[in-house]
Amino acid sequence: MFYEEPVFRPPSEANSLILQATTGCAHNACAFCGMYKGKMFRVRSREEIQRDINEAAAVTGGRVKRLFLADGDVLAMETGDLLDLLSRLNRAFPYLERVAGYAGPRDLLAKTPAELSRLRKAGLQLLYLGVESGHDQILKKMAKGVDAAGMIRAGRAAIEAGFTLSVTVITGLGGREQSLDHARATARVINAINPHFLSALTLMVLENTSLYHQIKAGKFTLLTPLESLREIAWLLEDINLSGCLFRSNHASNYLPLKGKLNDDREKLLALLKQAIKEPGRAGLRPEFLRGL
Ligand code: SF4
Repeated sequence: MFYEEPVFRPPSEANSLILQATTGCAHNACAFCGMYKGKMFRVRSREEIQRDINEAAAVTGGRVKRLFLADGDVLAMETGDLLDLLSRLNRAFPYLERVAGYAGPRDLLAKTPAELSRLRKAGLQLLYLGVESGHDQILKKMAKGVDAAGMIRAGRAAIEAGFTLSVTVITGLGGREQSLDHARATARVINAINPHFLSALTLMVLENTSLYHQIKAGKFTLLTPLESLREIAWLLEDINLSGCLFRSNHASNYLPLKGKLNDDREKLLALLKQAIKEPGRAGLRPEFLRGL
Protein backbone atom coordinates (compact mmCIF):
# COMPACT_ATOMS: atom_id res chain seq x y z
CA MET A 1 0.00 0.00 0.00
CA PHE A 2 1.25 3.45 -0.80
CA TYR A 3 0.74 6.17 1.79
CA GLU A 4 1.66 9.79 1.36
CA GLU A 5 2.44 10.70 4.95
CA PRO A 6 1.18 11.95 7.28
CA VAL A 7 -2.05 9.98 7.31
CA PHE A 8 -4.82 10.74 9.81
CA ARG A 9 -7.92 8.78 10.73
CA PRO A 10 -10.56 9.09 13.44
CA PRO A 11 -9.91 6.95 16.57
CA SER A 12 -12.89 4.75 15.70
CA GLU A 13 -11.21 3.72 12.42
CA ALA A 14 -8.29 2.08 14.22
CA ASN A 15 -9.22 -1.34 12.81
CA SER A 16 -10.09 -0.16 9.32
CA LEU A 17 -8.11 -0.50 6.14
CA ILE A 18 -6.98 3.03 5.27
CA LEU A 19 -7.06 3.78 1.56
CA GLN A 20 -5.90 7.16 0.30
CA ALA A 21 -8.37 8.18 -2.40
CA THR A 22 -7.22 11.78 -2.11
CA THR A 23 -4.23 13.36 -0.43
CA GLY A 24 -4.38 16.47 1.72
CA CYS A 25 -7.43 18.65 2.24
CA ALA A 26 -9.13 20.67 -0.50
CA HIS A 27 -9.96 23.43 2.01
CA ASN A 28 -6.69 23.37 4.01
CA ALA A 29 -7.38 26.81 5.50
CA CYS A 30 -8.72 26.27 9.04
CA ALA A 31 -6.74 28.46 11.44
CA PHE A 32 -6.40 25.72 14.07
CA CYS A 33 -5.50 22.83 11.76
CA GLY A 34 -1.99 21.84 10.73
CA MET A 35 -2.83 18.32 9.60
CA TYR A 36 -2.24 18.72 5.89
CA LYS A 37 -0.21 21.92 5.73
CA GLY A 38 2.68 20.20 3.96
CA LYS A 39 0.51 18.45 1.38
CA MET A 40 -1.02 19.64 -1.88
CA PHE A 41 -4.57 18.42 -2.31
CA ARG A 42 -5.09 16.00 -5.14
CA VAL A 43 -7.36 13.17 -6.13
CA ARG A 44 -5.19 10.14 -6.71
CA SER A 45 -5.49 8.58 -10.15
CA ARG A 46 -7.73 5.60 -10.79
CA GLU A 47 -4.61 3.50 -11.48
CA GLU A 48 -2.84 4.50 -8.27
CA ILE A 49 -5.89 3.66 -6.17
CA GLN A 50 -6.48 0.40 -8.01
CA ARG A 51 -2.91 -0.71 -7.31
CA ASP A 52 -3.58 -0.26 -3.57
CA ILE A 53 -6.93 -2.05 -3.80
CA ASN A 54 -5.31 -5.02 -5.59
CA GLU A 55 -2.52 -5.21 -3.04
CA ALA A 56 -4.87 -5.03 -0.05
CA ALA A 57 -7.20 -7.61 -1.60
CA ALA A 58 -4.25 -9.98 -2.18
CA VAL A 59 -2.89 -9.58 1.36
CA THR A 60 -6.28 -9.91 3.10
CA GLY A 61 -7.91 -12.38 0.73
CA GLY A 62 -10.60 -9.72 0.30
CA ARG A 63 -11.60 -10.07 3.93
CA VAL A 64 -11.82 -6.38 4.74
CA LYS A 65 -14.86 -5.37 6.76
CA ARG A 66 -14.13 -1.72 7.44
CA LEU A 67 -12.46 0.78 5.17
CA PHE A 68 -11.63 4.44 5.67
CA LEU A 69 -11.16 6.66 2.64
CA ALA A 70 -8.45 9.18 3.49
CA ASP A 71 -7.35 11.99 3.42
CA GLY A 72 -9.12 15.11 4.64
CA ASP A 73 -12.31 15.25 2.60
CA VAL A 74 -13.14 12.41 0.28
CA LEU A 75 -16.34 14.13 -0.83
CA ALA A 76 -14.17 16.61 -2.74
CA MET A 77 -13.97 13.85 -5.36
CA GLU A 78 -16.30 14.08 -8.34
CA THR A 79 -19.42 12.06 -7.60
CA GLY A 80 -18.96 9.83 -10.66
CA ASP A 81 -15.36 9.00 -9.67
CA LEU A 82 -16.37 8.23 -6.10
CA LEU A 83 -19.23 6.00 -7.27
CA ASP A 84 -16.80 4.15 -9.52
CA LEU A 85 -14.37 3.72 -6.61
CA LEU A 86 -17.12 2.41 -4.31
CA SER A 87 -18.17 -0.15 -6.87
CA ARG A 88 -14.55 -1.33 -7.26
CA LEU A 89 -14.24 -1.60 -3.47
CA ASN A 90 -17.40 -3.67 -3.25
CA ARG A 91 -16.05 -6.05 -5.89
CA ALA A 92 -12.59 -6.36 -4.31
CA PHE A 93 -13.86 -6.74 -0.74
CA PRO A 94 -17.07 -8.80 -0.73
CA TYR A 95 -17.26 -8.76 3.10
CA LEU A 96 -17.17 -4.98 3.31
CA GLU A 97 -19.57 -3.71 5.98
CA ARG A 98 -18.59 -0.09 6.33
CA VAL A 99 -16.89 2.57 4.22
CA ALA A 100 -16.22 5.87 5.94
CA GLY A 101 -14.52 9.19 5.25
CA TYR A 102 -14.08 12.76 6.41
CA ALA A 103 -16.55 15.19 4.84
CA GLY A 104 -15.94 18.92 4.65
CA PRO A 105 -19.07 21.06 5.04
CA ARG A 106 -18.52 22.80 1.72
CA ASP A 107 -18.12 19.49 -0.10
CA LEU A 108 -21.35 18.20 1.42
CA LEU A 109 -23.14 21.37 0.32
CA ALA A 110 -21.69 21.12 -3.19
CA LYS A 111 -23.39 17.74 -3.74
CA THR A 112 -27.08 17.53 -4.59
CA PRO A 113 -29.38 15.42 -2.37
CA ALA A 114 -29.62 12.92 -5.25
CA GLU A 115 -25.81 12.63 -5.48
CA LEU A 116 -25.47 12.10 -1.72
CA SER A 117 -28.18 9.49 -1.81
CA ARG A 118 -26.45 7.63 -4.68
CA LEU A 119 -23.16 7.65 -2.76
CA ARG A 120 -24.90 6.30 0.30
CA LYS A 121 -26.59 3.52 -1.66
CA ALA A 122 -23.26 2.67 -3.32
CA GLY A 123 -21.78 1.83 0.08
CA LEU A 124 -20.33 5.00 1.60
CA GLN A 125 -21.92 4.76 5.01
CA LEU A 126 -20.28 6.86 7.71
CA LEU A 127 -19.19 10.48 7.43
CA TYR A 128 -17.11 12.45 9.93
CA LEU A 129 -17.92 16.15 9.90
CA GLY A 130 -15.84 18.71 11.79
CA VAL A 131 -18.41 21.19 13.09
CA GLU A 132 -15.84 22.65 15.51
CA SER A 133 -18.06 25.57 16.62
CA GLY A 134 -21.59 26.77 16.08
CA HIS A 135 -20.66 30.42 16.55
CA ASP A 136 -20.59 32.47 13.32
CA GLN A 137 -17.81 34.77 14.46
CA ILE A 138 -15.61 31.88 15.61
CA LEU A 139 -16.24 29.90 12.44
CA LYS A 140 -15.22 32.97 10.44
CA LYS A 141 -12.15 33.67 12.56
CA MET A 142 -11.11 30.04 12.18
CA ALA A 143 -11.71 30.17 8.39
CA LYS A 144 -13.89 27.07 8.49
CA GLY A 145 -15.49 28.08 5.20
CA VAL A 146 -19.13 28.04 6.28
CA ASP A 147 -21.25 29.82 8.89
CA ALA A 148 -23.48 28.11 11.44
CA ALA A 149 -26.46 27.94 9.08
CA GLY A 150 -24.25 26.36 6.40
CA MET A 151 -22.92 23.84 8.89
CA ILE A 152 -26.46 22.84 9.86
CA ARG A 153 -27.44 22.47 6.20
CA ALA A 154 -24.36 20.31 5.54
CA GLY A 155 -24.99 18.04 8.53
CA ARG A 156 -28.69 17.69 7.79
CA ALA A 157 -27.97 16.93 4.12
CA ALA A 158 -25.77 14.00 5.18
CA ILE A 159 -28.38 12.63 7.57
CA GLU A 160 -31.26 13.09 5.14
CA ALA A 161 -29.29 11.17 2.50
CA GLY A 162 -29.08 8.26 4.96
CA PHE A 163 -25.50 8.58 6.20
CA THR A 164 -24.47 7.84 9.75
CA LEU A 165 -23.02 11.14 10.88
CA SER A 166 -20.28 11.60 13.43
CA VAL A 167 -19.48 15.22 14.29
CA THR A 168 -16.66 16.78 16.27
CA VAL A 169 -16.59 20.03 18.21
CA ILE A 170 -13.48 21.66 19.66
CA THR A 171 -13.52 22.78 23.26
CA GLY A 172 -11.63 26.06 23.66
CA LEU A 173 -11.99 27.19 20.05
CA GLY A 174 -13.45 30.53 21.17
CA GLY A 175 -10.57 31.07 23.59
CA ARG A 176 -11.24 32.37 27.07
CA GLU A 177 -12.78 35.45 25.45
CA GLN A 178 -15.73 33.57 23.92
CA SER A 179 -15.88 30.35 25.90
CA LEU A 180 -19.51 30.60 27.00
CA ASP A 181 -20.71 31.95 23.63
CA HIS A 182 -18.87 29.14 21.83
CA ALA A 183 -20.45 26.46 24.04
CA ARG A 184 -23.99 27.82 23.76
CA ALA A 185 -23.87 28.43 19.99
CA THR A 186 -22.26 25.04 19.37
CA ALA A 187 -25.02 23.28 21.34
CA ARG A 188 -27.62 25.05 19.17
CA VAL A 189 -25.98 23.84 15.94
CA ILE A 190 -25.52 20.29 17.22
CA ASN A 191 -29.16 20.17 18.32
CA ALA A 192 -30.25 21.31 14.86
CA ILE A 193 -28.11 18.65 13.14
CA ASN A 194 -28.99 15.88 15.62
CA PRO A 195 -26.03 13.63 14.68
CA HIS A 196 -25.60 9.96 15.55
CA PHE A 197 -22.22 10.53 17.23
CA LEU A 198 -20.76 13.61 18.89
CA SER A 199 -17.12 13.91 19.92
CA ALA A 200 -15.60 16.77 21.86
CA LEU A 201 -11.90 17.36 21.28
CA THR A 202 -9.91 19.90 23.26
CA LEU A 203 -7.97 22.51 21.35
CA MET A 204 -4.25 21.82 20.89
CA VAL A 205 -2.27 24.30 18.86
CA LEU A 206 0.50 23.36 16.45
CA GLU A 207 3.20 25.81 15.45
CA ASN A 208 2.35 25.53 11.75
CA THR A 209 -1.10 27.08 12.20
CA SER A 210 -2.27 30.68 12.02
CA LEU A 211 -3.94 30.25 15.41
CA TYR A 212 -0.49 29.73 16.92
CA HIS A 213 0.52 33.17 15.67
CA GLN A 214 -2.72 34.72 17.01
CA ILE A 215 -1.83 33.31 20.44
CA LYS A 216 1.73 34.61 20.20
CA ALA A 217 0.33 38.05 19.29
CA GLY A 218 -1.91 38.00 22.38
CA LYS A 219 -5.13 37.88 20.33
CA PHE A 220 -6.34 34.51 21.62
CA THR A 221 -6.15 33.00 25.10
CA LEU A 222 -6.10 29.25 25.59
CA LEU A 223 -8.34 27.76 28.26
CA THR A 224 -6.92 26.16 31.36
CA PRO A 225 -7.87 22.51 31.98
CA LEU A 226 -10.61 23.51 34.42
CA GLU A 227 -11.97 26.16 32.05
CA SER A 228 -12.12 23.46 29.37
CA LEU A 229 -14.17 21.22 31.64
CA ARG A 230 -16.51 24.09 32.48
CA GLU A 231 -16.99 24.77 28.76
CA ILE A 232 -17.91 21.12 28.10
CA ALA A 233 -20.43 21.39 30.95
CA TRP A 234 -21.97 24.51 29.36
CA LEU A 235 -22.21 22.65 26.06
CA LEU A 236 -23.89 19.61 27.63
CA GLU A 237 -26.31 21.77 29.62
CA ASP A 238 -27.77 23.10 26.36
CA ILE A 239 -27.64 19.90 24.34
CA ASN A 240 -30.95 18.34 23.41
CA LEU A 241 -30.49 15.14 21.38
CA SER A 242 -32.17 11.79 21.00
CA GLY A 243 -29.92 8.75 21.21
CA CYS A 244 -26.64 10.42 20.23
CA LEU A 245 -23.47 8.72 21.48
CA PHE A 246 -21.20 11.34 23.07
CA ARG A 247 -17.47 10.83 23.59
CA SER A 248 -14.67 13.00 24.86
CA ASN A 249 -12.13 10.19 25.07
CA HIS A 250 -9.78 11.66 22.48
CA ALA A 251 -6.14 12.03 23.55
CA SER A 252 -6.50 15.83 23.52
CA ASN A 253 -9.07 15.79 26.34
CA TYR A 254 -8.33 16.22 30.02
CA LEU A 255 -11.25 14.08 31.23
CA PRO A 256 -12.57 11.09 29.28
CA LEU A 257 -16.35 11.00 29.13
CA LYS A 258 -18.78 8.73 27.34
CA GLY A 259 -22.55 8.52 27.36
CA LYS A 260 -25.81 8.66 25.49
CA LEU A 261 -27.51 12.03 25.07
CA ASN A 262 -29.83 13.11 26.52
CA ASP A 263 -30.16 10.01 28.76
CA ASP A 264 -26.75 10.33 30.43
CA ARG A 265 -26.47 14.11 30.48
CA GLU A 266 -27.00 14.55 34.23
CA LYS A 267 -24.46 11.83 34.97
CA LEU A 268 -21.89 13.45 32.67
CA LEU A 269 -22.54 16.88 34.19
CA ALA A 270 -22.11 15.45 37.69
CA LEU A 271 -18.72 13.97 36.66
CA LEU A 272 -17.64 17.31 35.23
CA LYS A 273 -18.75 19.25 38.29
CA GLN A 274 -16.95 16.83 40.59
CA ALA A 275 -13.77 17.08 38.51
CA ILE A 276 -13.92 20.88 38.60
CA LYS A 277 -14.45 20.80 42.38
CA GLU A 278 -11.71 18.29 43.12
CA PRO A 279 -9.36 18.20 40.11
CA GLY A 280 -6.65 16.44 42.12
CA ARG A 281 -8.88 13.38 42.52
CA ALA A 282 -10.36 13.40 39.00
CA GLY A 283 -7.39 11.77 37.26
CA LEU A 284 -7.14 14.50 34.63
CA ARG A 285 -4.81 13.71 31.75
CA PRO A 286 -1.54 15.60 32.32
CA GLU A 287 -0.46 18.07 29.65
CA PHE A 288 2.49 15.93 28.53
CA LEU A 289 0.20 13.00 27.77
CA ARG A 290 -2.18 14.99 25.59
CA GLY A 291 -2.01 14.44 21.86
CA LEU A 292 -3.81 14.98 18.56
S1 SF4 B 1 -9.95 21.02 9.89
FE1 SF4 B 1 -10.57 19.66 8.25
S2 SF4 B 1 -11.36 21.07 6.67
FE2 SF4 B 1 -10.12 22.32 8.06
S3 SF4 B 1 -8.09 22.35 7.14
FE3 SF4 B 1 -8.11 20.66 8.62
S4 SF4 B 1 -8.64 18.86 7.43
FE4 SF4 B 1 -9.18 20.65 6.19
